Amino acid sequence: MIDAQIEARLKLGQPDELMVYLHIPFCSTRCGYCDFYSETNVGELRIAATLKAILREAEWYRSIYPHARISSLYLGGGTPSLIPSKLLAPFLVGLSRLFRPATQGPVHSLTDEFEWSFEANPESLDPDKLNLLAESGVNRLSLGVQSFNDRFLRALERQADSRMVQRALEAIQNNGHFQLSLDLMTGLPDQSKDDVAADVQQLLNYAPEHVSLYSLTVERGTPLERRVQDGLVSLGEPSHRDSLWETAAALLRHNGYRHYEISNFCLPGKHARHNSGYWQGRPYLGLGPGAVGTLPLGPPGPSRPPGPPGPPGPLAVRMSNPALGEYLQAAGGEGGLGTAAHTLEYLSGQDLLLERFLLGLRTSEGVRIGACAGEFGIDVAALRAALEGWKGAVYLDRRSFAAGRVVVRKRGRMLLDRLLPDLAVRLESLANESGIK
Ligand code: SF4
Repeated sequence: MIDAQIEARLKLGQPDELMVYLHIPFCSTRCGYCDFYSETNVGELRIAATLKAILREAEWYRSIYPHARISSLYLGGGTPSLIPSKLLAPFLVGLSRLFRPATQGPVHSLTDEFEWSFEANPESLDPDKLNLLAESGVNRLSLGVQSFNDRFLRALERQADSRMVQRALEAIQNNGHFQLSLDLMTGLPDQSKDDVAADVQQLLNYAPEHVSLYSLTVERGTPLERRVQDGLVSLGEPSHRDSLWETAAALLRHNGYRHYEISNFCLPGKHARHNSGYWQGRPYLGLGPGAVGTLPLGPPGPSRPPGPPGPPGPLAVRMSNPALGEYLQAAGGEGGLGTAAHTLEYLSGQDLLLERFLLGLRTSEGVRIGACAGEFGIDVAALRAALEGWKGAVYLDRRSFAAGRVVVRKRGRMLLDRLLPDLAVRLESLANESGIK
């Protein structure tokens, strides 16, 4: 919960630039593999109350950060496209008023500095809704396709069949105002390399600027997990699943897509700016039920107990919103969502340093050694030495390293989970030696 001290430290932490993530936790049904937070069978009244509460929460944040430039706004979910148009229109106006830069050019410009992304599923997208989104300033659509093949769409328990997927993509193309990102999945039950190649070929017909490519994973507590445990579904050997993903990745690369993050590909210059901001450790607001944000904290105020100056304390706070019921309750309470309901996790300098590498090494840009050392007050040579001694150093791109960037080659990026614990130990000891708390 945010008390007056934390509110004061948020104000003192003023970043020049912020990203905004907004979680819309509604889905028409649950896909069998999904463990994201979302709710089904939510009626219009409750959706309207949620949108109102989100705008209230957004206003509270704007009062904390009146001057921060908003570089990106991302409406994710759940399924934002499930919001009925009559509720969506005023909601987008409210968000635009609060977050869209006044200097932004004509609404339909695709070259805007400001990236406004909207996640959609094929079954809840139509030409009218697309017009509404374009007119409101949304300039990037992320469509959950997963597959073009009805056999796999059924296995995933997706709402849309292949005809709906194609209709939605044609409507987006006819609209013409969006940069397009498509989600595709591999490693589906009984999938062959030919099936994967057919899916990628269909995807390429729509020339999306961006592709997120995932291998189906069995998440805890999902219906898919139960089916796998009961022997009703088999996803095959990990090596087979890896080869399916690699088949899709190779086809994308062959067709001009840059593999710029573990699961993400883009045409040149069309990377997702919002997600790239996460990987670079930029601050962001998290609005809506279940959303998470990470914000810098200014120094502790004078109400700190007197005594010798101690460590600077946490440097950032991760704020998690509760699920829908509690979120709505808090929105109606005294002070609104700004001062209630958040769960706070404080991040020290060490936490932030570690995160910078955990996330940065996922990308082809990697981590800039000089900038990182400067930000955290570490000696550049000591940081280089810690990285040279890391087990994963065999996967470092030597040319980038010599030029001052830590970039893990593609093969190493796939093994990062195994390589990072050793790096964490090295960074922690370096942080201790450098006096970073
Ligand atoms: S539509 Fe997306 S968020 Fe909703 S259940 Fe399916 S995968 Fe999960």
